[in-house]
Amino acid sequence: MVERQIAARGIRDKRVLGAMLEIPRHLFIPPPYDRSAYDDNPLPIGNGQTISQPYIVALMTELLRPKATDNVLEIGAGSGYQAAVLSLLVRKLTTIERIAAVADLARRNLNSLGISNVTVIEGDGTLGYPAHAPYDGIIITAAAPAVPRPVIEQLAEEGILVAPIGGRDIQDLVILHKKGGNCRQEYYGGVRFVPLIGRYGWEN
Ligand code: SAM
Repeated sequence: MVERQIAARGIRDKRVLGAMLEIPRHLFIPPPYDRSAYDDNPLPIGNGQTISQPYIVALMTELLRPKATDNVLEIGAGSGYQAAVLSLLVRKLTTIERIAAVADLARRNLNSLGISNVTVIEGDGTLGYPAHAPYDGIIITAAAPAVPRPVIEQLAEEGILVAPIGGRDIQDLVILHKKGGNCRQEYYGGVRFVPLIGRYGWEN
């Protein structure tokens, strides 16, 4: 998967490729879909939610430019797979999930691999998580109509945010760089994510 679907499609960061090699994706996917764990597709994880396509996980991780000293926030824990990959690349990760049963799934999956630098919080991630802010990096793994204002405020100076922004069905991958209190925005092509539902996201 890493060689044929990720490196071959242009992901170059060796730390990201190494982390993708190390985390067994099949452990994050319930049967019978775990059989397809190493195909380059999103897959169902229950409660109408999905684990993202491996290439997109690798791309968003690379765009975040994670450093070993970073304090990072993920919004949309899902299966915990993206969090597991990031856990190998940063100092501390907080991941928020709105659905209690899905937050439990992420916790179980991360615990089963002995990952100890990730905290899974159940709640509305559109509010961010001020208790652990400011964040050097923020990754939103559900589709938002706009980057939620509280989340931008919790991004540290020189921080990077990566998120799918646009419509409920199709979005652009957006990268925000915060500098001098302002945010510079870059676009990285079309993606499809499940909706970010919450106070500063879509209605349920
Ligand atoms: N990162 C996940 C993984 O590695 O499996 C995939 C995330 S899945 C595409 C999107 C997740 O975002 C779903 O589990 C969904 O319940 C969650 N979500 C949607 N709105 C949310 C919100 N306001 N706060 C936190 N999580 C939210």
